[in-house]
Amino acid sequence: MTPTSPLHPALLLDATLPDGTAADVHLADGRIAALTAPARRAPEAAGRGLRLDGALLLPALVDGHAHLDKTFLGAPWQPHRATAGLRTQIASERELRREVAAAVPVADRAEALARRMAALGTGYVRSHVDVDPDTGLDHLHALLEVRERVRDVIGIQLVAFPQSGVVTAPGVADLLDAALREGAELIGGLDPAGFDGDVDGQLDIVFGLAERHDAGVDIHLHDGGPVGASQLRDIADRTATLGLGGRVAVSHAYALGSGLDSSELMLTVQKLADAGVAVMTNGPSRSMPPVKLLHEAGVRVFAGSDNIRDAWWPYGTGDMLERATVIGLQGELMTDQELFLAADLVTENAAVALGLADYGLAVGARADLVAIAAGSVPEAVAAHPERLLVLHGGRVVLDRTPRT
Ligand SMILES: [Zn+2]
Repeated sequence: MTPTSPLHPALLLDATLPDGTAADVHLADGRIAALTAPARRAPEAAGRGLRLDGALLLPALVDGHAHLDKTFLGAPWQPHRATAGLRTQIASERELRREVAAAVPVADRAEALARRMAALGTGYVRSHVDVDPDTGLDHLHALLEVRERVRDVIGIQLVAFPQSGVVTAPGVADLLDAALREGAELIGGLDPAGFDGDVDGQLDIVFGLAERHDAGVDIHLHDGGPVGASQLRDIADRTATLGLGGRVAVSHAYALGSGLDSSELMLTVQKLADAGVAVMTNGPSRSMPPVKLLHEAGVRVFAGSDNIRDAWWPYGTGDMLERATVIGLQGELMTDQELFLAADLVTENAAVALGLADYGLAVGARADLVAIAAGSVPEAVAAHPERLLVLHGGRVVLDRTPRT
């Protein structure tokens, strides 16, 4: 048997698995080696493992949408500056981020947030990173550095995000191209109609870059109503044409929650399902996509934090179980079955959307695990309680298990 070391435990004792069964979890070489019925053992033998005492064990939480480069965490509190309109807000953000970056660099703030996420059991995060005429690739370079700094505790996937638009922002198409060459895994987008006023223009560039770089796509789409829905169908068509099913996501997709008539809603949902386009939600108070309906229609829905204490939004903790609670509340997910769905949005569904290999609570999977002070998955979603143990690749990130 592999000996337990403080940083690499070989045995987790008496975990409650998501299906409610009890198990001892054996770990070796950063992976799950075996799941066995809890053995009765003498107290001295129990010293070889970490005691979970019936706590719920889940595969690592996954944050499917964050903006690590935008956060003010790690810097003094910044009062929110209210503005009117998206372009004014973007201009305000530029001004504020220059001020904050002069005190605490982007990389240090991003690292502070990534480490906070890791300590809350998030093993992987997809971060959009601003690529615009103002900062060029500076934020991408900062985040590539952060990815290395934190690789022992959390995996970071990067989306080149055109916060200032694509068609209407000079030079951004070339910058996005360069970002994909230099380490971003996905190409982003932003309201092709509402922001750029040129749906085909923006989508030609975004999907052209995806094809050229064999990259995934994740587009911010806040446009509501029929204008948003028609873009969702455009995105589905382009995904199907290029054979990119399973590698394309739309973040927010407010159109699906903004009062489309039911025939247009179902037509749009069916196209997303058929094309393999996933939908990310952070549980907004308005225009949230209908999670249950999407799930039942075969659309993969996953969750993300989105903004965490930045120029857009002063709230956020980085806790993906808390995010599941928010989505459950906004989506009126009430039964245990629905609470399991909420949990899937921050675990399995997000892992698949991010294309994570070897994920899950199964023999052979990576030991990316989180133990939670709850007796069941529904309870964990409803209460988002304390994390007791976090492992990343079998390595201890956080350990609050009992010592006696
Ligand atoms: Zn976002």
